[in-house]
Amino acid sequence: MSRGLTLYHNVVSAYHAMARRPADLPDEDEPKDRVLHTRIPESLEDAIKSKARRLRIPVSNLVRNVLEQTFQLVEDVVGDGLEIASTARRVAARVRQAATGVGSQAAGIYGWQELILNRDERCGHCGVELDRGARACRSLSDRPDAAPVFLCPVCVAEVGKG
Ligand SMILES: [Zn+2]
Repeated sequence: MSRGLTLYHNVVSAYHAMARRPADLPDEDEPKDRVLHTRIPESLEDAIKSKARRLRIPVSNLVRNVLEQTFQLVEDVVGDGLEIASTARRVAARVRQAATGVGSQAAGIYGWQELILNRDERCGHCGVELDRGARACRSLSDRPDAAPVFLCPVCVAEVGKG
């Protein structure tokens, strides 16, 4: 194998399994988490690892989040084949905006507080499932009666980029 070009990279979903409570263990007939092996360039591995370090989440979590979001994007695009470009733009804008932009500021959100979830939630943006025990960010709002919004680490990293 030509060193430097490719690296055998394991994507392990053990973290996902460990984050579950015993009560949440899958039924006998529910498929268990799988381990996916894939060959990726060393540069991509470096990029993924440094991104995960910045977000302070396990590499496997980051990879899973990105895959889930990508497939959601693909479903959105396929559902509206004639408007692929505008759908992609819309989804990208939605990710930037809801997390960061004018929308959240209009809702009185002045900050995002990192926390460890004590219940299952969904990212208020991309909709990725956030398991109990996962890191997430909760909105802090000027409005005391505002329902909290939760963001996954990937979406909260978009804050300020919009
Ligand atoms: Zn998200």
